Amino acid sequence: MGARNGKAYLDSLDNMQREIWLDGEKLTQNLSQYPLFSGIAKSMAQLYDMQHDPLLIDQMTYNSPTTGDRVGMSFLEPKTMEDVAKRRIMMKNWADWSGGMLGRTPDYKNSELMAWASAAEVFGRKDPRFAENIKRYYEYVRENDLLLTHALLAPQVNRSALAHEQKDQFIAAKVVEKNTKGIVIRGARYLATFPLADEIIVFPPPPLLEQVNFSVKDIKTAALEAPYMFAFSISVETPGLKFICRESFSKKSIFDHPLAARFDEQDAVVVFDDVLVPWDRVFLLEDIEGRHAMYAETDARIHMTHQVLIRRVAKTEFLLGVICKVAEMIGIDQFPNVHEKIIKVIMALDTMKALLVASEANAKVNRWGVMTPDDEPLATSRSLYPLLYPQIREIIQQLSAGGLMALPTELSMDSAIREDIDKYYQGKNANSEERIKLFHLCWDIAGSSFGSRQELYERFFSGDPLKTATAFYYHYDKAPVIKKVEEFLNRKI
Ligand SMILES: Cc1cc2nc3c(=O)[nH]c(=O)nc-3n(C[C@H](O)[C@H](O)[C@H](O)COP(=O)(O)OP(=O)(O)OC[C@H]3O[C@@H](n4cnc5c(N)ncnc54)[C@H](O)[C@@H]3O)c2cc1C
Repeated sequence: MGARNGKAYLDSLDNMQREIWLDGEKLTQNLSQYPLFSGIAKSMAQLYDMQHDPLLIDQMTYNSPTTGDRVGMSFLEPKTMEDVAKRRIMMKNWADWSGGMLGRTPDYKNSELMAWASAAEVFGRKDPRFAENIKRYYEYVRENDLLLTHALLAPQVNRSALAHEQKDQFIAAKVVEKNTKGIVIRGARYLATFPLADEIIVFPPPPLLEQVNFSVKDIKTAALEAPYMFAFSISVETPGLKFICRESFSKKSIFDHPLAARFDEQDAVVVFDDVLVPWDRVFLLEDIEGRHAMYAETDARIHMTHQVLIRRVAKTEFLLGVICKVAEMIGIDQFPNVHEKIIKVIMALDTMKALLVASEANAKVNRWGVMTPDDEPLATSRSLYPLLYPQIREIIQQLSAGGLMALPTELSMDSAIREDIDKYYQGKNANSEERIKLFHLCWDIAGSSFGSRQELYERFFSGDPLKTATAFYYHYDKAPVIKKVEEFLNRKI
């Protein structure tokens, strides 16, 4: 089959039989036509259509090594620097299309899966079948161009207790049975962004250092936690699987809500009511060290962060464009305080771009033969952007100011008050409609529930920034800089 087009994605969204709960209502099929999902469904379809655009097809796809069909470029296992660049160009095309507002373009999970499959041996440590499973699954997803959602964490009930210490041992999803067909899972995981995917992949979050240690130090704790340590994937149609969605931020009018009307990806808690996962979909089972290895030894995190940084560059470019346009449109672009703020955004953008260049320039072939961007600039970007994004959002609030509250809706544009609107809502170099459209966009970034969710996303989606910083601290090679200071202190002159 190979790379899908938009219609194929929408058909699968409508024909698959899943269980999604939204506002107390159970939704199962024809989801592309459900008003609160239609905007995001159309957006995702547009991305798939880009794969078949004659002008883009060579950037977006490559020939599958098994079938020869055109398949998505984000599945490409990079062997050379050029391959890394090819992946970047493809990812930037998708990210630019949404101004970086779509976190779950399929290349995000595809990158992870590519890296896992390339390091399949890591999954076969306890059972060689798991290594075969991850390789076969990667090919299956690649050849059918499937879209994945994922859920890593136990529900936020009590973060000071391990999974087996919670009030109920099935709050966090747990293996309840192993039988000839597979493993049976009971409990929940969160937070699955984009439940309109084809498949869900479930795996444990990266361990903190002390958690890696407990497996070594405390065999009893390790045994009690083992049933919570698994990785698998299943179709969203699997019986017993439920997605419980948050309130939708999707809106009807593209004029009033240019981002929310198009890009609300949804986030859901995933409940497993005795869900059977067939053996051929199990990648890791009751394996605490394996959980560490799937992060530390596969470089999947690096390839994902490369994709994330490309998206963040696209997003920052888009935000900078919005800010510059606001400044010009309301005639504040000659004030030094405005320049100071805009320069902050330019510095953020240039820093992200520089980190991306550095990660690619220092790419190396890893032990699995995969050309892998340098981790350090990527880790820096991962910890830095959650600090920068809220500042950029604040700058949009500061520069747009009361204009964010002087916003007639689409309906008002067609009403008897239009003459007044045209007079009082125009900009320095723009008519009322152009100015109002821009300020609606600003509100969707800087004010609306969609905009707030974007900020929360940039802060948290790739893990708790605190834990990310701790992991970065432990990984960072501090010895050379400490040595410099020691040498200085020991100098006689
Ligand atoms: C918009 C959005 C989309 C997301 N999408 C996905 C997704 O698709 N798939 C997925 O699996 N996850 C997703 N996540 C979840 C994301 O991985 C988590 O938000 C992140 O890992 C933090 O976990 P938490 O939210 O449960 O916070 P918690 O772990 O509950 O932490 C709450 C607060 O307590 C602090 N804290 C917690 N534990 C400790 C500790 N031991 N020591 C000190 N302080 C602590 C944290 O720093 C934080 O400030 C998404 C999150 C958001 C906001």
